[in-house]
Amino acid sequence: ETISVSRLQHELEELLHEHRPDGQEGQVAEYIPALKQANPTHLAASICLLAGEQVQAGDVDIRFTMQSMSKVITLAMALMDCGEACVFEKVGMEPTGDPFNSIMKLEIMRPNKPLNPMINAGAIAVTSLLHGSGTEEKVERILSFVRRLARNPAIGFNEDVYRSEQETADLNRALAYFMKQYEVIEGDVEDVLDVYFKQCAIEVNCWDVARIGAVFANRGRDPETGEVIMPEHVAKICKTFMVTCGMYNASGEFAIRVGIPAKSGVSGGIMGVVPHCMGIGIYSPALDEKGNSVAGVRLLQSLSARWGLSIF
Ligand code: GLN
Repeated sequence: ETISVSRLQHELEELLHEHRPDGQEGQVAEYIPALKQANPTHLAASICLLAGEQVQAGDVDIRFTMQSMSKVITLAMALMDCGEACVFEKVGMEPTGDPFNSIMKLEIMRPNKPLNPMINAGAIAVTSLLHGSGTEEKVERILSFVRRLARNPAIGFNEDVYRSEQETADLNRALAYFMKQYEVIEGDVEDVLDVYFKQCAIEVNCWDVARIGAVFANRGRDPETGEVIMPEHVAKICKTFMVTCGMYNASGEFAIRVGIPAKSGVSGGIMGVVPHCMGIGIYSPALDEKGNSVAGVRLLQSLSARWGLSIF
């Protein structure tokens, strides 16, 4: 079935209305001051179809940080920089069933490598693999890749969120130093963390996220120009991790209820990728106990049901 833009626009507006949060349910992230200020009644959705058409509704002007959504971006880059063999020598391919910042399985698994690149430990390990001569060059490379995916040269990172992350990162530091001890990561741990905090603090809006999702949906090609931004097999690996691990330890339930490869972040953003069809950007900052956007997940569930978007 082909999806008409005007019908999609109309239905998206209806769904936004239906799922508009009242601010009572869920909790905005509180681990850093900069995220605590988010308005829990905000909800926005953008859809980028594969010819680049734009469908949007809700608070689409709000900007938010990528947080864990950036893990997909750096995974794609590491796969291109070093190849599959090198990446999977340092990080596994299995879901954990644990919270995203859990340290437990790093200790008990042998070898002591993180189970997958979508949890914090795995993402920090992936970031350590990125090419570039210093932290600044690495951050610049990530930023220019994100700008290219989103086709938005104005994208930068939020200095306040970055500083806050730096100051409150004891658990991420613990994960990183643990991995350094076991030679999962090499080099200066603080430098690796610095790049990781900056990638988490990259600031986007819903449309940027939808655009990025559309590149993955389009097998690594720019939806408007057809230009190859990443090889098809890289896009495929990323999408597969989004299915198995993208919604933290709620990925199984999300696969059943929504069935769309997706990656969430603690800012309340969700990037959805409907293969061969569309990229979706969602924002609503009130989170459930696993760290996923409450209204965002519900909206995606309705959207998937209404349009038959489940890949299964
Ligand atoms: N900056 C966050 C952290 O590392 C990102 C995690 C997330 O979005 N779940 O703790």
